[in-house]
Amino acid sequence: MSILATIKDHSGRIYRGIQLLLLISIGAAVLGAVDLSRDQPSSNAFAISILATSLALLALMYMRSSVVHRLRSAAAAEAEKHHFLTRDAMTGAMTRRYFLEALHDSLGSMRDRRDATLLLIDVDHFKQLNDTFGHQFGDLALAHLVKTAERIFAGGMVGRLGGDEFGVIVPHNDLAIINKKVRRLLDAMRAGKSHEGKTIPLSISVGLALAPAHASNTTELMLVADLALYESKAAGRGRVTVFDEEMLSDKRYRRLVERELRAAVYLGELELHYQPIVNPDSSTCGFEGLIRWRHPVRGLISPAEFIPIAERSTLIDMLGEWVFKRACADISHFPGRRISINVSGEQLKRDEIVTMCDRVLKETGRCAAQFVIEITETVATAATPEILRRLEALRGLGFHIALDDFGTGHCGFNYLKTLPIDSIKIDRSYIRSLAHDQVAQIFVSALAQIARIQDVTIVAEGVETQEEFALVKAAGCNRFQGYFFGRPAPRDKLGPLHAVHAEPLALSA
Ligand code: C2E
Ligand code: MG
Ligand code: MG
Repeated sequence: MSILATIKDHSGRIYRGIQLLLLISIGAAVLGAVDLSRDQPSSNAFAISILATSLALLALMYMRSSVVHRLRSAAAAEAEKHHFLTRDAMTGAMTRRYFLEALHDSLGSMRDRRDATLLLIDVDHFKQLNDTFGHQFGDLALAHLVKTAERIFAGGMVGRLGGDEFGVIVPHNDLAIINKKVRRLLDAMRAGKSHEGKTIPLSISVGLALAPAHASNTTELMLVADLALYESKAAGRGRVTVFDEEMLSDKRYRRLVERELRAAVYLGELELHYQPIVNPDSSTCGFEGLIRWRHPVRGLISPAEFIPIAERSTLIDMLGEWVFKRACADISHFPGRRISINVSGEQLKRDEIVTMCDRVLKETGRCAAQFVIEITETVATAATPEILRRLEALRGLGFHIALDDFGTGHCGFNYLKTLPIDSIKIDRSYIRSLAHDQVAQIFVSALAQIARIQDVTIVAEGVETQEEFALVKAAGCNRFQGYFFGRPAPRDKLGPLHAVHAEPLALSA
């Protein structure tokens, strides 16, 4: 029952009681009056009337105080409920939804624009902080940030926008004052939070945008403050950046996609489709996993559109891990077949690729020999000693390494001697021109011969016709991939030809 209904029900009963008492009082008074006209003593009737009126008055007073009491406790319960709904339980900051509503209100209406400043704050290396000191400390660090921000920006509003991302609405746009306060916040964080007798310094990156100078609606202001935050992170973190028009242009789109893509991982919008790789007799020997993004509005988005954006930040590591985990989960559906996954050159710039692969293998109980890691030719040509070391380490774990899109970069044949690879995938552009281009024919045949000597498998990519299949076979390629054998499809929608029914084949490169 609602609070209002409870009060109505409760006061209704008292109200009916008062009505009855007043009726008795009126009745007694009338009786008294009649008796008086008959010149008979009427003291009894009047006494009853006075008693009933007094009781009615008492009931009225009781009703008033009890309604006031009930209203007070209802208001407190309502406030508690509101707090619960609008506040993040862990940090005490406003929830994202209410923060955005508050931001909307702070900016005023079209006719009545109000000055405001939006700060977006991101805790630097939060994951590492959690991993090193434990989640409990991570939680405390976030609550500490919120408390400090609330103290420094008294009169402002602090909200939690994501895991380790926060926003502050300041109800003015005096940049000098705000800059001073942000610096105080950065210093307070640097001073650290104590943990088991030690003080752990914290670092935050801040993006700042002013309303109405930079934007005058919530979405735009969030976007430009986000661009400023991105600049802070790109410039080395632990600093504040004020939004600048220069930050717009293509970055705006990139940042949007990045944000949506990050959410897509959590919302389960990513899919790994599989394209068969076949033997000369057309039997399936493996599958290449190709990522797809099923966007709720834009439909299926190709990796060509979002991988380059993901590569500009560590988001690519997140996608890479998602892909490998997905492949590990799916491999049991393809007994005896290898799954190839694409690894970006950006991932190879960090040691995480090796530790991530090792960890995921252990977590899923899979064996590295069941997977091929595809790296593009351009990565191989620009490979630093560190990248080569990581490739060797991956190979050491048992992965096969394939050189993808061969022929599109500048990878001379002599590179093939030094690179730690097990197979080479010839780019589709050569396969397409094989029928009429002699240079392409010589290139493919020469490559096939070198590969044979070096015990490297040659995969022809993008085979679309029977004629192309015959030509690449004749040129000496030993694995084939392309629409002729099957298009990339979700695991459960692979054609019956590739649905793995035959007895498992021995794993070969
Ligand atoms: P890729 O690794 O060279 O993959 C082959 C691409 O050629 C795929 O495009 C595939 O759909 C397409 N393809 C296959 N057979 C044919 C054919 O017969 N004709 C034609 N016209 N195309 C064919 P997709 O799926 O759009 O992927 C494009 C690129 O995106 C991939 O090229 C790969 O470099 C990258 N990519 C895909 N998935 C991932 C991923 O999980 N991680 C990373 N880092 N990159 C990925
Ligand atoms: Mg590939
Ligand atoms: Mg390729």
